[in-house]
Amino acid sequence: MKNSFKIPKEVSHVTEGLEKSGFQAYLVGGCVRDLLIGREPKDWDVATDASPEEIVKTFEHTFYENDYGTVGVVSEDASSPRLKVIEVTPFRLESGYTDKRRPDSVTFSKKLEDDLKRRDFTINALALKIERKGETDSFTGSITDMFDGQKDLKNGLIRTVGNPHDRLSEDALRIMRAIRISAELGFGIEKGTLEALKTHANLLGHIAKERIREEFVRILMSDVPMNALIMSRELGVIPYIAKELEESYDIEQNMAHAYDVWEHLLRTVQHAADKKYPLEIRIAALFHDIGKPRTRRVSRETKYTFYGHEVVGAKMTEKILKNLNFSRETVDYVVKLVRWHMFFSDTEQITLSAVRRMIANVGKERIWDLMNVRICDRIGTGRPKENPYRLRKYKAMVEEALRDPISVGMLKIDGKKVMEIGKMAPGPKVGLILNALMEEVLDDPKKNTDEYLSTRTKELNELDLPTLSKLAAVGKEKKMKAEEEELAKIRNKHKVK
Ligand code: ATP
Ligand code: MG
Repeated sequence: MKNSFKIPKEVSHVTEGLEKSGFQAYLVGGCVRDLLIGREPKDWDVATDASPEEIVKTFEHTFYENDYGTVGVVSEDASSPRLKVIEVTPFRLESGYTDKRRPDSVTFSKKLEDDLKRRDFTINALALKIERKGETDSFTGSITDMFDGQKDLKNGLIRTVGNPHDRLSEDALRIMRAIRISAELGFGIEKGTLEALKTHANLLGHIAKERIREEFVRILMSDVPMNALIMSRELGVIPYIAKELEESYDIEQNMAHAYDVWEHLLRTVQHAADKKYPLEIRIAALFHDIGKPRTRRVSRETKYTFYGHEVVGAKMTEKILKNLNFSRETVDYVVKLVRWHMFFSDTEQITLSAVRRMIANVGKERIWDLMNVRICDRIGTGRPKENPYRLRKYKAMVEEALRDPISVGMLKIDGKKVMEIGKMAPGPKVGLILNALMEEVLDDPKKNTDEYLSTRTKELNELDLPTLSKLAAVGKEKKMKAEEEELAKIRNKHKVK
């Protein structure tokens, strides 16, 4: 394990400031754990024997953060790229958790030991007192380790501080935290703690949905959502995330699939994680077939059918995500992906106009995400029958549908202006002039200015009709050729015909 640490200036500024004023100051919690295993800490927490008032007095810019005595110290380093806040919390004792979510009272203490005792897991109950090594951001340190946290860290084990039954029933969110931290660090869970997790999983019913959501999101964003969800099922935690997922257990599918619906969903979300796709794709991957259990019918030809499962699934997904208090935007985004996920798996020939309609349905900004959900879905079957050529073809078609075609609409002049300049009524001559202008602009895009095109319109208007018609025909021809070249470029890029 590491014994030399890089600590950001704004953090050592805080610990050194407290020590200079005669207080104790320790780094505590996740940041110590992460420093020891060489992982970058997500946030930095400082614990001290100073009271909130004393912390405020010690620093220039501070603000009270919450009811637990936490004071935010704002970085005074002007060279720091953004305003940084370091949370400083007085040593705390906690007593009584009658509602299983929040301590009944918070009592401050003068002893570090009290503060470490109230923490959830041994690897999260380490304190580090840092000492400057000379160089600016390099530090040595001494560890306070009351519960063999370093040993568990070395063995990759999550274990509660003290009796697991007491600690998990005190605050059931720790059940979600255990699964999440295990997924993020790739750690196992110690036997006694694991048993207690299973015993008390039902207490998650007392926990606020948004706190469950936060841990669920971090499980999905970890490298191993599949393993974490399998563990969640074994521990009885799934109903508190989305009870609808339980319907997918053991739901057998057609020959195209190697797995039941549950395992298919897990493998799909795992592929999304392997690809480092963003949260919305991962959520959609997990729920895309959630409507299958309710729509499965026996069929003589294909064993089963699941007609309409994407419509039912979209409704179910909306309910699940609203229940977890996801934002309106996230709900809308994911529901659209689930609703339309069948599109790219259509076995019939997909036409360009069908692709256009699909883009209108899911929205331009979501079309590539929809394609990526499809890619995960395909891997998640365990029998990816659809060949990669088909996928490349779809990509080319989407690109083709998204681009603006080469047309007179690209000109910096329109029919109305042409009529004004030529003092003419609507009629075929307007189109002829526009096409003749198009010919020149395709030859030399620099000519696409209001000024040039207005002058040329006047000149073209003077020409006799046969001459103008000839110029326009050349323009049309060029336009078609340019359009073909653009499409050929897209097809080349995706290596399709
Ligand atoms: P990360 O910062 O990567 O999310 P973390 O372990 O630091 O992981 P935080 O939510 O930042 O998680 O909490 C900081 C510390 O506070 C934890 O390491 C742990 O010591 C303590 N802690 C957090 N939540 C609880 C809880 N529900 N019960 C007991 N201690 C907790
Ligand atoms: Mg933290």
